[in-house]
Amino acid sequence: MLSKAKTIEAVEVMATMFPNAACELTYHSSFELLIAVMLSAQTTDIAVNKVTPKLFQDFPTPEAFVFAEVDEIMADIRSIGLYRNKAKNVKACCALLIEKHKGHVPKTMEELILLPGVGRKTANVVLGEAFGVPSIAVDTHVERVSKRLRICKQSASVLEVEQALMKKVPKDMWTATHHRMIFFGRYHCIARSPHCDQCPLFYLCQEGQNRLKLN
Ligand code: SF4
Repeated sequence: MLSKAKTIEAVEVMATMFPNAACELTYHSSFELLIAVMLSAQTTDIAVNKVTPKLFQDFPTPEAFVFAEVDEIMADIRSIGLYRNKAKNVKACCALLIEKHKGHVPKTMEELILLPGVGRKTANVVLGEAFGVPSIAVDTHVERVSKRLRICKQSASVLEVEQALMKKVPKDMWTATHHRMIFFGRYHCIARSPHCDQCPLFYLCQEGQNRLKLN
């Protein structure tokens, strides 16, 4: 298992590779970010960014989503995956925002994960990005990279990946670590064909060394 020191070293190398790693979703408020992250499940940020300008023009507030028919919301997000469920969740989420939070996005994990369609990953992105609360959202890239680098166990659940990262990385690096690992996974340690032969982390990556031995 990768030590604390080596984990920090790996994240710092990722920072030099991707100094501009940041959220790639377009948003102008915590509310727009919440909806954009909900829409991004199993879909690329690029695809979400294509639909959100019209979506937020048509439905600029939680009230607008609640008064809309689900079909109308679906029409704006039809090009992204799971759009039917996402449209229903967005509407239900907005209803709860109005009912429990006066139309504002709550600022705690406990409150966020009670919103329909919002899990820990979405909540962590909103907390870190919109409210500056240190957080590590574990998406498919963060999970894959953590497992390949042996930061956590191979059998770790998403929550265990998050806990391992929070244990090994100092709190003031959590949100940046999330962005760096996403960029590293999205553009370098790619799911099907990671660039192990030109990876600056090859020296500490058992997975990469095994892969190159097999080739
Ligand atoms: S050596 Fe390969 S598997 Fe390991 S971190 Fe680099 S790209 Fe990913």
